[in-house]
Amino acid sequence: MGKILLKNITADGRKCDIYINGNRIEKICAAEEKGGNDGGHSSGAGTCRKLAGPSGQISEAYGETEVVDCEGKVALPGLVNAHTHAAMTLLRGVAEDVSFSDWIDRIWEVERKIDEDCIYWGTKVACLEMIRTGTTAFYDQYWMVPAAEKAVREMGLRAVLSYVHLDHYDPAASRRQRDECRNLYEASRLWQQNTGFAVAIHSVYSVSEEQILWAADFARSRGLGINIHLSETEQEVKECITRHGVSPVRYLDRLGVLGPDVTAAHTLWVDDDDIRILAEKKVSCVHNINSNLKLASGYRFRYKEMRDAGINLCLGTDGCASSNNLDLHEAMKTAALVQKAWRGDPEAMPLDGLLSMATEGGARALGLDCGKIEEGKLADILIVNTDSSYFLSDAPFMANFIYSAHSDSIDSVICDGKFVMRHRAVPGEKEILAGARRVLERLK
Ligand SMILES: [Zn+2]
Repeated sequence: MGKILLKNITADGRKCDIYINGNRIEKICAAEEKGGNDGGHSSGAGTCRKLAGPSGQISEAYGETEVVDCEGKVALPGLVNAHTHAAMTLLRGVAEDVSFSDWIDRIWEVERKIDEDCIYWGTKVACLEMIRTGTTAFYDQYWMVPAAEKAVREMGLRAVLSYVHLDHYDPAASRRQRDECRNLYEASRLWQQNTGFAVAIHSVYSVSEEQILWAADFARSRGLGINIHLSETEQEVKECITRHGVSPVRYLDRLGVLGPDVTAAHTLWVDDDDIRILAEKKVSCVHNINSNLKLASGYRFRYKEMRDAGINLCLGTDGCASSNNLDLHEAMKTAALVQKAWRGDPEAMPLDGLLSMATEGGARALGLDCGKIEEGKLADILIVNTDSSYFLSDAPFMANFIYSAHSDSIDSVICDGKFVMRHRAVPGEKEILAGARRVLERLK
């Protein structure tokens, strides 16, 4: 495994050296003052460079260690997108400015033409886009997961790939999906450590009760995560009450589906009782603001109530057919602005809470030991370039980064201790776009 020394980088407001050994952050040391050299005895300055170099020497000859001068740059943890349908990069724009029900009917119609090639190239495009916007891990929900796994592995990211059950109450579809789920789970046991398999239940309105119970039991008995769209629209809640007499959250609770292994996307139309149940069952909830706004599903995500109840909150983009991109940086800004606006309270979603949703919260939902720049954590690091007008002021870095700058201020990205983007260049970009164009012809 390689070694990387990020010299003179700023992390948590302090200038330091970050030493990455293999796929972990081994050491974070105070950076040496210019011209100074304390030998690593008093403040820790120079210790990282000692570790990086030949034993016992402070030297510019660092052996196998790649030394990167990060003067003027800031380190942030890689972002975790907790709800995606990655291959839907190929479905961008298939239904614009239509209602949620018209939109989803159109999506399901196009999805009938999707094959493994589409999943592979669509996921490659998604990874490319996520790398360029600072995401190093994501929780996906789609079909033909081995093709997605190949794409993720080649791009060097982390992902939990959930196979989605969506039977539309058709017993033949239920049986076929159970077989597929079993087979794909068996195949996934050969996957490498950066990709994991999970089970998705599309939603309470599109999956039969028998299938929901089967999928949850299959996942739980194998220690797999469960992923579901939950209380996304007001119509979903009303229909669930008509059909089952209770809200979608209470319905799933009644079925015994909710638990700490469940990650629920949207949770937009939830009442106090729903929030209490989600907290009690330790469900992770994912806010997907751009998708909700675009499909006019709503915008009153109850961030404060859910946070105060102790729910693990995450941020997601959803698929590109609704949010149109996978830029979690953009999602952070939109989430904050919308929350402040509808609450009439500028403090409604503070910057540290926002970053924590997009990093630690997502990492917890995916079961990953990342989301913070700390010794011992997985080395998933963004290197932000502050040499632009957006960072001239003395405002706190996170304010400049989220409210003022765009995701293209992310200069380089390290995932699992390896560079996946250097100075905005991602290897294979042209080939990925060409491959995607080829398969797109088939979806027309
Ligand atoms: Zn979704």
